[in-house]
Amino acid sequence: MTPVAVYVHTPFCPSKCGYCDFNSYAMSGDVVDRTVAAMLEEIERSPWKGRPAKTVFFGGGTPTFLSESQICGLLEAVLEAHPPVEACEITSEANPGTVDMPKFAAMRAAGFNRISLGAQSFDSGDLMRLGRVHDADHIARAVGSARAAGFENLNLDLMFGLPGQSMRGWRRNLATALALRPDHLSLYGLTIEPNTRYYRLHLRGMLDLPDDDLVVEMYDEACSQCAAAGLEQYEISNFGRECQHNLCYWRGEEYLAYGPGAVGCFVDGEVRQRYTNMKHPERYVEAVESGGSLWCDSEVVDTPTHEFEKLMLGLRLNAGVSADVAHDAAGRAKMVASGWLEEVPGLLRLTPEGRHWCSTVTSELAPG
Ligand code: SF4
Repeated sequence: MTPVAVYVHTPFCPSKCGYCDFNSYAMSGDVVDRTVAAMLEEIERSPWKGRPAKTVFFGGGTPTFLSESQICGLLEAVLEAHPPVEACEITSEANPGTVDMPKFAAMRAAGFNRISLGAQSFDSGDLMRLGRVHDADHIARAVGSARAAGFENLNLDLMFGLPGQSMRGWRRNLATALALRPDHLSLYGLTIEPNTRYYRLHLRGMLDLPDDDLVVEMYDEACSQCAAAGLEQYEISNFGRECQHNLCYWRGEEYLAYGPGAVGCFVDGEVRQRYTNMKHPERYVEAVESGGSLWCDSEVVDTPTHEFEKLMLGLRLNAGVSADVAHDAAGRAKMVASGWLEEVPGLLRLTPEGRHWCSTVTSELAPG
């Protein structure tokens, strides 16, 4: 059986951040215990049991909001259902306010070998406005604890384009993050999503957002600082030691998914199918307990859609996307002439300037 990427969604957080539109809930107590029990049941009943894991990724939500025994028990179940290949990358996202040395040590012993810390900023004003539960000291302590627990592969997430953020503040954030010597840095420009507190504040004109030119400069500054620190860019927003799990998404491969709101995509014969599990923990638990379908949504991904997604996601990679992926020849010539796209034998890839315009290039290349 072909090894596959496995994603586990844990939907709980200590509180809801103002900008967050992920499937996450500020819930605790009994519902968490029942959800974890249901997730164990879902994994136990998985139709893909026995298929080896090439990567495992616990995301959320905040996986480290779970107790040591809950998160380690879930990993044990995943690895039993999906025996890991050699050197399988096993990541957990972690919120610096929800971890300590004993928890990291237990996670390392259970088999996790990569930690992705949601730092977001080292500025206490930014962190407060974002609604994060941690402060800057928590981040440095979490990095120290993770290293002491034996994690040799560590990512920091940082956000830019935040309300009130200046270039000076962003430079300071980058320098502080890089001084902690992460193996990988992920950068996220703030986007204002519907159904968030930030969206409502934005509608009322209450978010002091940096203008687009400054946001572009912040991105360029990050690319320069990462390069100077030896973290090589390999994807539009990612630098350093490649995340094997996320590479599976960008390459348009299959991924299995467990937990409330988890999205998976698998190939059955000639058919590629994407599914989404019930999102709300209570609905998910009910579905597991009733023995019915856990999916709230599913679609067959036809070949044109799959080709488009491969183009859109593959272009994000510095390595580029195979020139065999269906694309519009006139759009390709136009983008090459604009200096945003380059052709290397067998590949199409964005130029550094083109990385600012990835969605425009994708639209121009999209067939039909
Ligand atoms: S910690 Fe992450 S998932 Fe949880 S509310 Fe904040 S942004 Fe959303």
